[in-house]
Amino acid sequence: MSSLSPALAAHLPTGMLADGQWTAASGGRTFEVVDPATGEVLFDVADASPEDGRRALASAADVASAWRGVAPRERSELLRAVYERIVARSGAFASLITAECGKPLAEARAEVTYGADFLRWYAEQAVRVEGLVRTAPAGANRQIVHRRPVGPALLITPWNFPIAMATRKIGPALAAGCPVVIKPAHQTPLTTMLVAEVIRSEAAERGLPPGIVNVVPTASSGDLVAPLLTDDRLRKLSFTGSTAVGRTLLQQAADQVLRTSMELGGNAPFVVFADADLDAALDGATVAKLRNAGQSCVAANRFLVHDSVAREFAQRLADRFAGLRVGRGDVDGVDVGPLIDAEAVEKVAELVDDATDRGAQVLTGGGRPDGPGTFFQPTVLAGVDTDARVVREEIFGPVAPVVAFADDDEAFALANDTEYGLAAYAYTTSLERALRVGAEIDAGMIGINRGMVSDASAPFGGMKQSGLGREGGEAGLEEYLETVYVAL
Ligand code: NAP
Repeated sequence: MSSLSPALAAHLPTGMLADGQWTAASGGRTFEVVDPATGEVLFDVADASPEDGRRALASAADVASAWRGVAPRERSELLRAVYERIVARSGAFASLITAECGKPLAEARAEVTYGADFLRWYAEQAVRVEGLVRTAPAGANRQIVHRRPVGPALLITPWNFPIAMATRKIGPALAAGCPVVIKPAHQTPLTTMLVAEVIRSEAAERGLPPGIVNVVPTASSGDLVAPLLTDDRLRKLSFTGSTAVGRTLLQQAADQVLRTSMELGGNAPFVVFADADLDAALDGATVAKLRNAGQSCVAANRFLVHDSVAREFAQRLADRFAGLRVGRGDVDGVDVGPLIDAEAVEKVAELVDDATDRGAQVLTGGGRPDGPGTFFQPTVLAGVDTDARVVREEIFGPVAPVVAFADDDEAFALANDTEYGLAAYAYTTSLERALRVGAEIDAGMIGINRGMVSDASAPFGGMKQSGLGREGGEAGLEEYLETVYVAL
């Protein structure tokens, strides 16, 4: 049985949200949300139709002008109040994340802290939108440049960080003055719906427009989203998910030249140079690989290790992984939770088989533990061929392939040999080499001697096919603002 408290379960919204009201989807259709650790059905949730999607967009469009007119200070204070309420209920949010997504409770708590921080950060940024006044260089006129909200925004989020992926978009959108329609992933809609309920009730208490936050859970995302992208009431799409789906959405968004932000897939290299502090590199590798069982866009995907330490690094990483406990996220002492579903387990198993067929050795793990749930053992592969799928594709599972390199130039070439450019990690005790990593590796975020880079106040995003735009930091707000230049 799920460990959700009966009090939390009794008050969870399970409908769709539009015009400030939770209602059933049209036709009363629902779909099941399942606990990946047990296969247990947690809730039946409203299955919004394309018509429901249009209703939610109408709700956002109806309040766009009113919300744009609300003082930045009031928008800021709403976000700050929602931040406080989420922090006060962080235990409930964490248990919900663990129930629908599977990650261990300690990780879920850390995600609540990280996710809430976007609301605090954008509460602070809402009152700091700047413009410009200057004399044109020719002296003929003044230039006034000001910013205004882009308008109703559709926010599409993945299942792997159910609170953080939602707040990373909702925070800047509301701060900028944009009402939103959120379409959470079908695997994990509940956490996002609880966030939306906190915003809805806080906004209602403050007398703010009811339709600023709308939610459309659905089991048919393509059917619901496609017509919204050609609806001229929609002015912005912010998507986080796979590169394949991002590409499709960009094509669909092209018709009305929609403003888009794309946070897509990754294939992060984790580079260990010969001069690295190996103990620190092993600590960083464990975090960068196993957070959320490897199901993170910034997960270390390939371990590129200098020849002189590759064997020792791989063996010591395997020893660590072998000592970890795999199991249900709500059980004390569990380090690694389940993968999101059976399909994910199947894909990870295929990647491991492909690597071993090409000569890789399994130092630990390599398979599925017995019993229910969609688990995969933490796995270390040594001597991996650089053409193996596990090196070329996003793994999204607890598998660490180790590839040896001979010198810095080869390390940089291997690191950049991918269509992705999201995150990278490097361990070295040389400042000169660290600076070179920053200059040579094509990635939007680089951790030097750190296995984690995420921070609400820093720009998160990638280059190449990892996306367009940034979330977090000052840059995250820009994604929801238009620039207007007045010549005076
Ligand atoms: P996904 O399959 O691309 O799904 C992401 C979201 O898009 C979900 O809400 C999904 O809804 C929706 N979706 C799927 N097909 C759609 C369509 N045709 N039209 C409209 N919406 C559609 O990705 P995922 O498996 O959830 O997440 C894993 C991927 O996200 C990985 O590639 C990971 O790297 C990436 N990611 C990137 C970042 C980043 O910041 N760069 C952060 C986290 C994850 P349904 O699933 O309900 O259909």
